[in-house]
Amino acid sequence: MDMKIALVKGDGIGPDIIDEAVKVLDKVAAKFNHSVEYKEAIAGGAAIDECNNPLPQESIDICNSCDSVLLGAVGGPKWDNVASDLRPEKALLGLRSELNLFCNLRPAIMYPQLKEACPLKDEIIGDGLDIMVVRELTGGIYFGKRGRDENSAYDTLTYRKEEIERIVKKAFEIAQIRNKKLTSIDKANILNSSQLWRDVVNKMASDYPQVEVNHQYVDNAAMQLVRAPKQFDTIVTTNMFGDILSDEASQITGSIGMLPSASLGYSNLGMYEPIHGSAPDIAGMDIANPIATILSIAMMLRYSFSLEEEAKAIEDSVFEVLEKGYRTADIYSDDTYKVGTKEMGQLICDAI
Ligand code: NAD
Repeated sequence: MDMKIALVKGDGIGPDIIDEAVKVLDKVAAKFNHSVEYKEAIAGGAAIDECNNPLPQESIDICNSCDSVLLGAVGGPKWDNVASDLRPEKALLGLRSELNLFCNLRPAIMYPQLKEACPLKDEIIGDGLDIMVVRELTGGIYFGKRGRDENSAYDTLTYRKEEIERIVKKAFEIAQIRNKKLTSIDKANILNSSQLWRDVVNKMASDYPQVEVNHQYVDNAAMQLVRAPKQFDTIVTTNMFGDILSDEASQITGSIGMLPSASLGYSNLGMYEPIHGSAPDIAGMDIANPIATILSIAMMLRYSFSLEEEAKAIEDSVFEVLEKGYRTADIYSDDTYKVGTKEMGQLICDAI
């Protein structure tokens, strides 16, 4: 297969971690006889410095012309005081909406080798965790009508049926290729939009008879995630609930340096990125953990190119390197070997 990938390295540790992910993708491509062409696009602080615009049209065009986008992270203290419409984060929201990416996938996987980093008790975690949070990304309260005067403020939570249907359909498809268990999270005891959400889920459930569906209110779900997280496999929820719950789920796993994410739309074009930020405190020091970005490549191969074997090869290599005891500083503990960003990337390449 010929793959054309847009690389948006971004700021801080972005270039450090993207370089390692590219090394891994090149290795997988060579092993499985694929060809990869890269096109670099600037965004975030780097783009502000270069052309006073966090997301130049040329970068949008490059991303749109590729099969998929790999993004490092954007932002940093250097741009904290720029005008609000110029903030580096505008590049992320801009790319999501320009590429029509309405579905955000955030796996929360806890590797048994990193169990010590998990804040929950052993009896709750057992042999590890593997939850997939499917979050609606371009609707709901973050995009509704809003207003403010001196004494009051309001935000509006609106969902159209089609917006719910497209994300719920993605969630069913994902649950189907995972463990066939879908939990839909809402606030249907209070919110009209959640009642519509629940109706859509129940209606669509008949198209996926193999998938077991249940519903939870968001307050209960927040509690269940720390009380009994192993009950969850695939979760589907609204933009704001997903924002909060996916952060909670990721923290259960210990290190944010380990978790990838994907943003998908109607077509195969997706945007893949680690969940962490640009970590300016460690940029360029060869100590950042590149695993979240390397696992983002695995998600890209699975969801944009349907290359399951290749995706699995990357995930297995990460597992093997952890099993051998290699760790970057953020996940290091006694009795393991500390390695830098580049060495971790190389070890994963060598294991493929
Ligand atoms: P952060 O995720 O960048 O860093 C939080 C802490 O985790 C830091 O101590 C950092 O060193 C550490 N860390 C993060 N990723 C790591 C990795 N791969 N390996 C080892 N350690 C890692 O969050 P922050 O400090 O709140 O934000 C820093 C900048 O990143 C801000 O400008 C913020 O706006 C931006 N940000 C960008 C994104 C994105 O691009 N998607 C997401 C979140 C924050």
